Amino acid sequence: MQVKVVKFGGSSLADAEHFRQVASIIKADPARRYVVPSAPGKRFKEDIKVTDMLYACYEAVRGNGDLDEIYEKVKERYNGIIAELGLNFDISGELEYVKNAMLHSAGRDYAASRGEYLNGLILSKYLGFDFIDAENVIFFKDNGVFDEEKTNKVLAEELTQHERAVIPGFYGVMPNGTIKTFSRGGSDITGSIVARAAEADLYENWTDVSGFMMADPRIIENPCAIETITYRELRELSYMGATVLHEDAIFPVRYAKIPINIRNTNAPKDDGTMIVAETKEFDTEKVITGIAGKKGFSVITIEKDMMNSEIGFGRKVLEVLEDNEISFEHLPSGIDNMSIVVSSSAIEGRRDKLVSSIRRAVRPDSVTIEDELALIAIVGRAMVKAKGTAARVFDAISNADVNIRMIDQGSSEISIIVGVEERDFNKALEAIYKEFVK
Ligand code: ASP
Repeated sequence: MQVKVVKFGGSSLADAEHFRQVASIIKADPARRYVVPSAPGKRFKEDIKVTDMLYACYEAVRGNGDLDEIYEKVKERYNGIIAELGLNFDISGELEYVKNAMLHSAGRDYAASRGEYLNGLILSKYLGFDFIDAENVIFFKDNGVFDEEKTNKVLAEELTQHERAVIPGFYGVMPNGTIKTFSRGGSDITGSIVARAAEADLYENWTDVSGFMMADPRIIENPCAIETITYRELRELSYMGATVLHEDAIFPVRYAKIPINIRNTNAPKDDGTMIVAETKEFDTEKVITGIAGKKGFSVITIEKDMMNSEIGFGRKVLEVLEDNEISFEHLPSGIDNMSIVVSSSAIEGRRDKLVSSIRRAVRPDSVTIEDELALIAIVGRAMVKAKGTAARVFDAISNADVNIRMIDQGSSEISIIVGVEERDFNKALEAIYKEFVK
């Protein structure tokens, strides 16, 4: 029988109504055997996610030592869901336990993780599935890095003991027994880890949108949805700011070549977006799979006559960055100049030091830093065989009267990255979208 791992995001489990919808999705396909829930999210725009309330509880204990006011709201959320579902389940003992633990110096991650833990308990009761506590199957190493090997071994073994189970997302355990969470949105990662351990045929990630759009809907009105995208393309797009799926959620399933299907809990008939390891020879008529972009970059430009023949020049410059613990994003260079694109926040407060260190290291003719650069990534696996894509991108941008400040085409040929002034960002994005999509 097929195995599907299904992860439901916070908005998909925000209230009893959504719980019902989630249960009907799970029951509609017997292959949906392992379920990874987030904590209850927002029910409406101004609502507060349970995870955020739990962080606030932690802060409240550290502040005035009193968490009652906020914790009451957390209790209300869970009790409300249970009551509305008509579930015969008393969660008050669990809620008391969590409160006491928070009052008695449980950590910040412990506090946050209880959102998923409690929600998982309720969901498992509602579905009639077993409950597997993530603290027994998801492991971190002493240095805080996720312990892939141990987790996969223990979790795979545990799953064989359960026909159907709920495994709460977002957290695991440190070697010393304390709870640790992934970064925000980390239930996506748990889903992917479970899919790998279950050797699933498919990892369905249910959220509140029908998959990835070809461009940010805040900039492009009603953009087309992406039907199929490869892991590599997605990496490029999400690095550039396309959110929906946590960036790190790709790695566990990528390893096992398990496809991820992004689906919409509120529109379960929509196919959503399929994320796959690879596709059969560029099975797309579209040259471009998606466009994403980000503001907030700076360019450090270093000029020196005869730079190209000076051996070790690049290394010395990069060493300065390394000594300052600054990572760079792109490195376009010319004959006698070299530019380094970094995120502006990474160099904040260290500009003068950086410039003087570079001066000392390579004695350049000039070093300048310019801000307010936006990067746009045009991503598409079909670009490799389509001639003239770069020309179309540049034409579209120049026809929109926008100046291109930087160009970078990775050797993989699945993306072209252009840098423009932040104020031209939307205009450039619109122009590229129009050129390739409609
Ligand atoms: N509840 C956690 C958060 O809001 C994790 C998740 O939803 O994936 O970040």
